Amino acid sequence: MTSNQFMNPVENTRHAVVIGGSVGGMAVAQVLLRHFGRVTLVERDRLPDSPQPRKGVPQGRQPHALMLRGLHALEQLFPGFRQDLIDGGAVVANMGADLAFNAFGRWRRGPYNSALSGLCASRPLIEFTLFRRLANHPRLSVLQAHEAIGLLADVAGKRATGVRLRDRGAPGAEEIHIEADFVVDASGRESKAPEWLKTLGYAPPAETVVTADPGYSNRYYEAAPGQAWKMMYIMPAAPDKRRGALIMPMEGGLWQVCMIGMDGEHPPVDETGFMDYARSLSSPRVYEAIANAKAVSDPIGFRKGENRLRHYESMPRHLESFVAFGDAVYALNPVYGQGMSVAAAGALELDACLRGQRAWRGTGSLDGLAARFQKKLLGVLMPAWMMATGEDRRWAGRSASAETNPMVRLLQKYMTRVLSVQADDNIVAEGFFYVQQMLRSPFSLLHPRILFRVLRARAGAPSAAKAPTSPVTPIPA
Ligand SMILES: Cc1cc2nc3c(=O)[nH]c(=O)nc-3n(C[C@H](O)[C@H](O)[C@H](O)COP(=O)(O)OP(=O)(O)OC[C@H]3O[C@@H](n4cnc5c(N)ncnc54)[C@H](O)[C@@H]3O)c2cc1C
Repeated sequence: MTSNQFMNPVENTRHAVVIGGSVGGMAVAQVLLRHFGRVTLVERDRLPDSPQPRKGVPQGRQPHALMLRGLHALEQLFPGFRQDLIDGGAVVANMGADLAFNAFGRWRRGPYNSALSGLCASRPLIEFTLFRRLANHPRLSVLQAHEAIGLLADVAGKRATGVRLRDRGAPGAEEIHIEADFVVDASGRESKAPEWLKTLGYAPPAETVVTADPGYSNRYYEAAPGQAWKMMYIMPAAPDKRRGALIMPMEGGLWQVCMIGMDGEHPPVDETGFMDYARSLSSPRVYEAIANAKAVSDPIGFRKGENRLRHYESMPRHLESFVAFGDAVYALNPVYGQGMSVAAAGALELDACLRGQRAWRGTGSLDGLAARFQKKLLGVLMPAWMMATGEDRRWAGRSASAETNPMVRLLQKYMTRVLSVQADDNIVAEGFFYVQQMLRSPFSLLHPRILFRVLRARAGAPSAAKAPTSPVTPIPA
């Protein structure tokens, strides 16, 4: 086993355990390898040796848009990741030139060269590419087919000292205890950590849930040749456009074709229902694109898309040396495509906290880290959370509580106008894509350059400004 020359001798002997070997867990493990001599990744599934969906990540069969913020953060953590994805077959798509985008019933008028190009791939390819980068690290152990069933703590119950595990390949076998100096729970939406903490005498974190009751039905098709676009999106829009759809390319020359519903409108998962739903969309373009394309799978549904925040940041007492991470803390309505990006950015924040800890507390001490990190993680999450819950509250249906804050309602109205104006104005579109890709705050859309264009345009009327065809000058951040 090699040691890390940048760590001091105490850090070099320390062991960290990450529960959950998905995108969040792998990003965290990569960070912990910078601060701990040994890292163990515990995953209840057997991880596939090629990009395949797996049971522990049921959302893996649904399209996953990797926002540019997430791509940049993952590239920072795993240099070369972007190229690996492209080598694996990911499709490069320019936001202005390759996306056919319909918001509030209007298609964007014409293509333009955006400064933003992203990568489209299946979720299994993204995960597999990360795993290949991580798995051979000499100081990492991957414990597959092992399920965490609880935490170990010191006698005073103040500090996590390890994890209790069950070997899924040996039913009835005794539980296994592994000791650790630091434990991260990255076990996703269904995390049991609140119960584990309760067993140790801690009040579980309070929860906030905001839901617009979304539903997905996804089907894979062979990509039909000869399209002027690579990706197509009909955005559902409150209060009445409950139905939307996404066609996203992926490796292997396939399309992920996903019917989307909001406010309890759950797209069907049978073939006839799927096609009827496509036909019922506000524009026939998605239906026309798939009508003669070859389907290579049955539709697969997904319905648990609520926004859920577990308030670890405001727990009155923290178990030292234990933090919760990723979807285990916050799960976001998948329609906005933010989860992997927030996880990657959150991993960078953990890196910063661990560096700060070294300077603040000196060598070896992890005291206070849990409370500090959970607060910092909330800061990373907040823009995405506000965006997702703000949008979801626009649905007046039974499941979402309507927004009452007049300032937020004003911003929502402005956002509606931005989305309407961007159809004809590439500068507004570019500003919107920077926000959607999580590279800028939504408040950047109040920059005078955009504000003026949005307010000047008559809602729904094509802008008098000629659409620029050359790259748009990036808007000052
Ligand atoms: C339908 C849907 C579509 C989505 N689309 C997008 C998108 O377009 N873009 C985007 O950025 N995000 C999207 N997301 C969110 C994204 O999937 C997650 O944010 C992302 O995977 C990070 O989650 P995670 O690693 O924290 O948890 P998960 O990905 O859920 O992984 C949890 C891991 O922990 C393992 N595990 C669970 N319990 C245990 C245990 N007790 N012991 C050991 N291992 C355990 C699981 O097997 C799994 O590997 C979508 C989510 C859903 C539900």
